[in-house]
Amino acid sequence: MIALLSLASGCVDGDPDRIGSPQGGDPQDDGVWVVPDDSPDAGGGSPDMGLGDALVGEPEPGEPEPGGPEPGGPEPGEPEPGEPEPGEPDAPGPGALPPGSRCACDADCADQGGQAGVCVTGICMIRASDPCASQGSAAECPDGLRCWPIRNQGNAPVCWPDCEAFACEGTCDGDGSCAPGEAMNCDAACGELCTGDGTDRPCGADNPSGYCDEGAFCEGGRCTGLCSPEHPAGICGQGFECQNGACVPLEGCGTWECDLGQACDDIVPVPGVLDPQDPAAVAAGYYIDTRREYAYLRRDLVMLLQWSTCQMRERFPEIGPLGLADLTQADGRIPGSDVGNTRHPSGTHDGSDLDLAYYQTDGLSDAQIICGDGSDDNPNGTRGRYNDGEFCTTEQNIVDIEQQVFFMALMAQHPGWRIVGIDVTLADDVEEEVARLRSSGVISPVVRDRLQSLGYGRAGGWQFHHHHIHVSYFD
Ligand SMILES: [Zn+2]
Repeated sequence: MIALLSLASGCVDGDPDRIGSPQGGDPQDDGVWVVPDDSPDAGGGSPDMGLGDALVGEPEPGEPEPGGPEPGGPEPGEPEPGEPEPGEPDAPGPGALPPGSRCACDADCADQGGQAGVCVTGICMIRASDPCASQGSAAECPDGLRCWPIRNQGNAPVCWPDCEAFACEGTCDGDGSCAPGEAMNCDAACGELCTGDGTDRPCGADNPSGYCDEGAFCEGGRCTGLCSPEHPAGICGQGFECQNGACVPLEGCGTWECDLGQACDDIVPVPGVLDPQDPAAVAAGYYIDTRREYAYLRRDLVMLLQWSTCQMRERFPEIGPLGLADLTQADGRIPGSDVGNTRHPSGTHDGSDLDLAYYQTDGLSDAQIICGDGSDDNPNGTRGRYNDGEFCTTEQNIVDIEQQVFFMALMAQHPGWRIVGIDVTLADDVEEEVARLRSSGVISPVVRDRLQSLGYGRAGGWQFHHHHIHVSYFD
């Protein structure tokens, strides 16, 4: 009971014992359940070496994920007559939207009575035939609209639709006119009386910076969602296909290299399922072994992770999915920040750190203590049979070192590789396997060098990596 309680609190709190990281290491980590935290640090860091060589095979997929879209448009506030924006009258709009409609560009708005439509701060209006004879004058406007100049746009005279005459997608002001809502605007690039930059109108071929529904992002003028149950036709990385809301490898594993420019640095949700038995988890080669809220990551690293787990399946066909422990939150803050109780040391888990389970010999690669026969389940800081609450106390463990190191070599293809934190008792095993892979030509010298950047032991602040590894990349 006590153990269970403390276990639970360990997880949640995550921070039972974390010692900072002294010098070289970086702290990190976390905890999933049993656990912990990691601590990595930079200390010894690994430079990045040039690119290198690849490991084995071919890459596969990763998939991008969606960024954050932006929600729909603005909402109505209230307008005031007279102060929209101006423009000068001119060309008629070929659009189809009647006065009072929401618009993004002048071209969206229909002409009325031979006078040109114009988008005023997000609402279709009509250009007046002459300067307004008086506030609210009807003489310069088609039926159902009245004239007011738009002060901050050079007093451009515009015919405002009467709410009684037209359906209003803005807000009705005190004069009974349909005015733009407070948050409304339209794109200055295509609307003379607009001041927006395009982010307040929908994503489109002519507006690559527009918004999309939640869960999707505007890419190349098209709203694209990450493949998920909500976006069953969403996007996956190269080499993957969205099937029933999950990314499934087509053939090969695509590539880990992100070519989306700055979007590669976006923090995105890692697609995936929570159940390791789910066929989608088996297909992907991983499952989410933490709260979904803590499974966000930099897009390029999502691609790398997906490519790596796909490669693992190719190399070890019978392999089970790998558990993903804490990564980062959607806002790029340390998991637990959302509830005011961070689970990892500061400076970590901001989108470029991954806590991952070890590949294990017991049939389930989840975030569990791997020391001894794998039966320990004590919380951090409390001694178990095969661990002292921080490190394994025996060389025996349930890590499949061949799979584990091969996986790390895949993850080390990324030139931003910094360090991987592991349990102190595994360092020699990892080093031996790295040397073996190098001598057999499986990994390149570059990857071999990267894998020499190992974090372990108390001196580096790497306690609590007896249940997961902590992989860190440079920002
Ligand atoms: Zn960590």
